[in-house]
Amino acid sequence: ATPTAVTVGIGRGAELGILIKQGEALERSEKLTTIIFDKTGTLTKGKPEVTNIITLSADEHTLLEWIASIEKNSEHPLAKAIVKRAKEKGIKLKEMEKFESFSGKGVVAKLKGKEILIGNRMLFAEKHISFPKEIEKKIEELEEHGKTVILCAIEKEIKGIIAIADTLKETTKEAIKELKNMKLKVAMITGDNIRTAQAIAQEIGIKRVLAEILPQDKAKEVKKLQEKGEIVAFVGDGINDAPALAQADVGIAIGSGTDVAIESGDIVLIKDDLIDAVGAVQLSKKVMSRIK
Ligand code: ADP
Ligand code: MG
Repeated sequence: ATPTAVTVGIGRGAELGILIKQGEALERSEKLTTIIFDKTGTLTKGKPEVTNIITLSADEHTLLEWIASIEKNSEHPLAKAIVKRAKEKGIKLKEMEKFESFSGKGVVAKLKGKEILIGNRMLFAEKHISFPKEIEKKIEELEEHGKTVILCAIEKEIKGIIAIADTLKETTKEAIKELKNMKLKVAMITGDNIRTAQAIAQEIGIKRVLAEILPQDKAKEVKKLQEKGEIVAFVGDGINDAPALAQADVGIAIGSGTDVAIESGDIVLIKDDLIDAVGAVQLSKKVMSRIK
């Protein structure tokens, strides 16, 4: 039977907007040593905006038209940011002949018989598309400002880059500070590139950064830490995060996240507020001290 203190703890959590699915989650939360946060949509608002469009041998209107026409087929937050910008500019989107999505890398499509690639360095390397040093420099500069850079090539020739920035949630910094004060090791995990991830992590005060992690590998990273003896909480919102949420000793899902993430989590933060992750750990400590 569930001890009374756990039941009371679950009830208290519910009042605070911390949905605790079973008592064991509270028991495990008390023992946590590491807490890993997904970046986009968890630490950040997940509502990115286009900040820079840099064109090479194509005018901006055409570049945006091509890219947005392809990205309208993608559910990715970065894709939505690009489509939004195109719509604001009154650009009419075209229909694709073929569309293929590469998880954690980008998208490839055919438009008017031409192959168009939109994505990150990993995608470009895989498709053997290189670009000049000046472009690489420009990309790095944008990434050092915490922006995510998307590259576009038409028929294997680079045509331009789009930089996109997301903003931190209001309570992200405070929540991380509190968790560090509680002697928890805090890490960030993301599919985004290392430079962008580090710039954002630095702003938040997170030193441990796992970047360029493919969606299917997030859970493996959790497992690696567990094998080293860490008791791990994973906080995430995306479809990508579901396996990691399930693998973690405590999976904490963001309330406004995708259904699969919410189903995979042991705890759901109904208000999307990361301060409630701190609250969940504090609650577990209170409850467990009453049981012992
Ligand atoms: P995160 O872990 O931050 O949610 P993802 O694993 O979803 O990131 O994506 C990682 C990277 O893959 C993105 O930062 C981007 O470079 C690239 N990418 C993914 N989907 C798209 C897309 N639809 N268009 C362009 N780039 C994409
Ligand atoms: Mg996310």
